[in-house]
Amino acid sequence: MSELVTARLRSTAAKLGLPHTAATLEHLIQRADVGKMGYLDFLDLALSEELAIRDDRGFHTGLRLSRLPHHKTLDEYDFSFQPELDLRKVQDLATLSFVETRTNVALLGPPGVGKTHIAVGLAVAACRAGFTIYFTSLDDMVRRLKAADAIGQLPGKMRLYQRPDVLVVDEVGYLPLDRDEANLVFQLISKRYEKGSIILTSNKTLGEWGEVFGDEALATVILDRLLHHCEVVSINGNSYRLKNKPITIDGGAATA
Ligand code: ADP
Ligand code: MG
Repeated sequence: MSELVTARLRSTAAKLGLPHTAATLEHLIQRADVGKMGYLDFLDLALSEELAIRDDRGFHTGLRLSRLPHHKTLDEYDFSFQPELDLRKVQDLATLSFVETRTNVALLGPPGVGKTHIAVGLAVAACRAGFTIYFTSLDDMVRRLKAADAIGQLPGKMRLYQRPDVLVVDEVGYLPLDRDEANLVFQLISKRYEKGSIILTSNKTLGEWGEVFGDEALATVILDRLLHHCEVVSINGNSYRLKNKPITIDGGAATA
């Protein structure tokens, strides 16, 4: 191929926003030569490589913006350590149809059983599939919504938690909320209702949420919206953090 055509192709690819094709044109052509590829195969190779690189870049940008505390996957979760956990339910969730149907996921159980790990694993898988993710603890979200409200910027801050396809709300129930705080949570849950999935983790049973939200009536309306379309996954085994530790902690003295 003449230098002139190669140069033009490189420039055209760059203008079309195909930087990988532009940067690796000679190498692509070499591979086509060696593999004796036809036009279709060559075009397929060039475009699919460009797409794979774009997807990968999107995935890494998405992960960075998600504020996930780590990027552990479901493959790294040892299901044999939690024999009572419904593996099929987690596998179903891993197909991500819950994101498409805007269904919520509640991961419930005592500290250390891997609620956050599974929430993050699902979020990483969703991010890989091109969905937008945002991770927060409930307390942090409430603190930031309150601060925004105090300076008249609640709608903007609400949008941060409204926008992502999947909002992960970690650690519901570690600290009780007052009425105003619970009301902010209610507003957010209402805005996301049937519009986007929430994955939440909690060490409290749903029956104990009245205490968390300080007000039974408010807890009821929050639960009503959250649970209307929701997969509840209970993990009731031992703490993985205390695995292989000689001591056992009874009566909830352990902290998450
Ligand atoms: P929780 O949110 O329920 O308190 P975490 O998800 O923070 O628990 O889990 C505590 C630690 O133990 C994390 O490092 C997590 O990756 C790990 N972990 C928990 N359960 C498992 C498991 N079954 N297999 C592998 N790692 C686990
Ligand atoms: Mg946790």
